[in-house]
Amino acid sequence: PEDTLVSVGDVTIGAQPIVIAAGPCSVESNEQLGAIAKAVKATGARVLRGGAFKPRTSPYSFQGLKTEGLVYLKEVAQEHGLPVVSEITDLSYLETFAEHVDIIQVGARSMQNFELLKELGRTDKPVLLKRGFANTLSELLMSAEYVMSGGNGRVILCERGIRTFETATRNTLDVSAVPVLKRMTHLPVFVDPSHAGGAAWLVDPLALAAVAAGADGLLIEVHNDPAGALSDGQQSLTPGRFADLFAKLKAVAAAVGRSV
Ligand code: PEP
Ligand code: MN
Repeated sequence: PEDTLVSVGDVTIGAQPIVIAAGPCSVESNEQLGAIAKAVKATGARVLRGGAFKPRTSPYSFQGLKTEGLVYLKEVAQEHGLPVVSEITDLSYLETFAEHVDIIQVGARSMQNFELLKELGRTDKPVLLKRGFANTLSELLMSAEYVMSGGNGRVILCERGIRTFETATRNTLDVSAVPVLKRMTHLPVFVDPSHAGGAAWLVDPLALAAVAAGADGLLIEVHNDPAGALSDGQQSLTPGRFADLFAKLKAVAAAVGRSV
């Protein structure tokens, strides 16, 4: 009957304050990550995101810095006092993720990798579980059950847009998923407006809608040089635009009895 709170360091996810996780799609260098971490922390982000193992549609696209990227995440996290979230793409990386990362992200493409989910159930790391772009909410919850029934109750759900007939946006943000999941479960619910819309100009309205709908947190892509980003530059906010959004999020959060 009570909401599950997921705490990592001094950050609590699922409580009254909305937790904003921000950072680049991909970790590109120690300097890039450090500059972005410094900026998003100054604005008010509580968690740093950054992909090191990237599940790219094309095998010819940048695949991530892999373990080197995880090392930078850990270094920058310690320097700036921000917990980090990063996506795992394979079971075999679990040990290195457990060592370098505070929250392990399961991406949309891996939501039904049941062997991975079972292993994550045996760890004590929080898991940010993204909804597959063709999965129902009950399938998402069954995937969460794979982690939780293994003994790890620290699961955060994340709506990141689903595939529909609409082509004007990268995906269609299922805003209804937020109140529906909040009603169906006790788990915290995040929204990723960056991958949902696929365009920087869409991040603000989708993020504000998510907060209005009751999201417990947001996962937002921020890059210091979106045009030069090695992945997802088109949907990345500059630190300045992120700060502008943050001010608007404060107002919407207050209107629904929350804070950021
Ligand atoms: C990401 O967050 O970097 C990512 C790849 O997201 P998704 O799994 O939602 O596509
Ligand atoms: Mn991305």
